[in-house]
Amino acid sequence: MSRYWSDIVGRLTPYVPGEQPRLDRLVKLNTNEHPYPPSPLVLDAINSVTGDELRRYPDPESTLLKQAFARRHGLQPEQVFLGNGSDEVLAHVFHALLRHERPLLFPDVTYSFYPVWCDLYQVRWRAVPLTPEFQVDPADYRGDNGGIIIPNPNAPTGVLLELAGVRRILEQNPACVVVIDEAYIDFGGESAVGLIPHFDNLLVVQTMSKSFSLAGLRVGVAMGSAALIDGLQRVKNSFNSYPLGVLAQRAALAALEDPGYFQQACRRVVASRERLSAAMGQLGFQVLPSAANFILARHPARPARELFAALRARGIIVRYFDRPRIDDYLRITIGTDAQCDELLSALAELLG
Ligand code: PMP
Repeated sequence: MSRYWSDIVGRLTPYVPGEQPRLDRLVKLNTNEHPYPPSPLVLDAINSVTGDELRRYPDPESTLLKQAFARRHGLQPEQVFLGNGSDEVLAHVFHALLRHERPLLFPDVTYSFYPVWCDLYQVRWRAVPLTPEFQVDPADYRGDNGGIIIPNPNAPTGVLLELAGVRRILEQNPACVVVIDEAYIDFGGESAVGLIPHFDNLLVVQTMSKSFSLAGLRVGVAMGSAALIDGLQRVKNSFNSYPLGVLAQRAALAALEDPGYFQQACRRVVASRERLSAAMGQLGFQVLPSAANFILARHPARPARELFAALRARGIIVRYFDRPRIDDYLRITIGTDAQCDELLSALAELLG
C-alpha cells in the first residue's frame, strides 16, 4: 500500500502467470508454450527488418497482418482487431464490451484472468458451475446476463464444447456479447469463426502464443462484426495506438504465410497429447479429455500438491492451482515426446 496509489490499485488482486525460471535443463511444462519453434520463415522475417524501420513507429493498425487474418478466416479487415497478446485483446474486450448492469457469466473453473479484468474494469460477474464432468452446459447460459465469456477448449481443463453448443449459447443470448476465447482451438476443436456472419454478437478471440509457437512475440486477435471491432478500436486508440511493434507485425505475418508448418507442428503436439494421456492413464491417473495442448489430471491416491512439489524437486515444472474443484489436479503442458517421457518416468518412480 502506498499513499501515492490511485484508489483502485490497492484493491486489485493481480493475475499470477506461471513462472519462467531462468534455469537450463528444466522440463518446463507449466505455461502451455508450444514445444517446437515457430516456422523458420518467422526468423527470416525478423532478420529482414531494417534499422530505418525500427527508427520509425510501426503501422498503428497492423494493416498487412490484419488483412492476412481476414483472408485466413474469410472475413473483412474491419472484422479483425489485433493486440499485444490475447491478454491485451481480452482486457479491451472486458472494458469495451462486457461492462453492463447485468452480470457477465463465465464458468466457475476457467481462465483466472477473467475475474482480474472484472476487478480492474468494475465488471459485475457471476460464475456458472461446470457439470461434474467439467463440461460447459449451454442450458446454463441463458436469461439474466450482460455478456458471456467462455474459453473453448476451456482452460485449465482442456475440455471442448462442440460447435453446436456454442451456437446454442449464441441463439439463447441475442441481446448480449458472447466471447469465445479460442486460445487453444487449433489443437482439436472447430472454431466459431465460421459463425461470425450469422451472429453479430459473437466475438472470437485467438492468439499466436500457443499453436503458432509465438508466445514471446505477443500477438492476439479478436474477430467479429464490424460494430464489435469498432468498439474495441475505440478503446485501443484511447489506450495505446501502437500495440504491435514492427517485429511482431512482420513475424506474425510470416507465420501465417506458412500454414503447412503450422499444421504439422500442431499435429505433433496432438499426437504427443494422446500418447501422454494414455500413459498417464496406465499409471492410474484420471485424465480429462483434452482438446488443447495441455491436460488436467489427478491421481486418486496421491495429492496433486505433493506430486507438484516432488516433480519440481526433479526439475519438472507443471502447474498446480490451489482453487476449488481443481486443487486435486495437475495441469501439464504437452512437451516433446522426450519431455513427456521424463515426466512419465518421474511419475512412475514417485508412485512406486
Ligand atoms: N486465454 C486463455 C484461455 C489462456 O490460457 C491464455 C494464456 N495464458 C490467454 C488467453 C492469453 O494468451 P496470450 O496473452 O499469450 O495471447
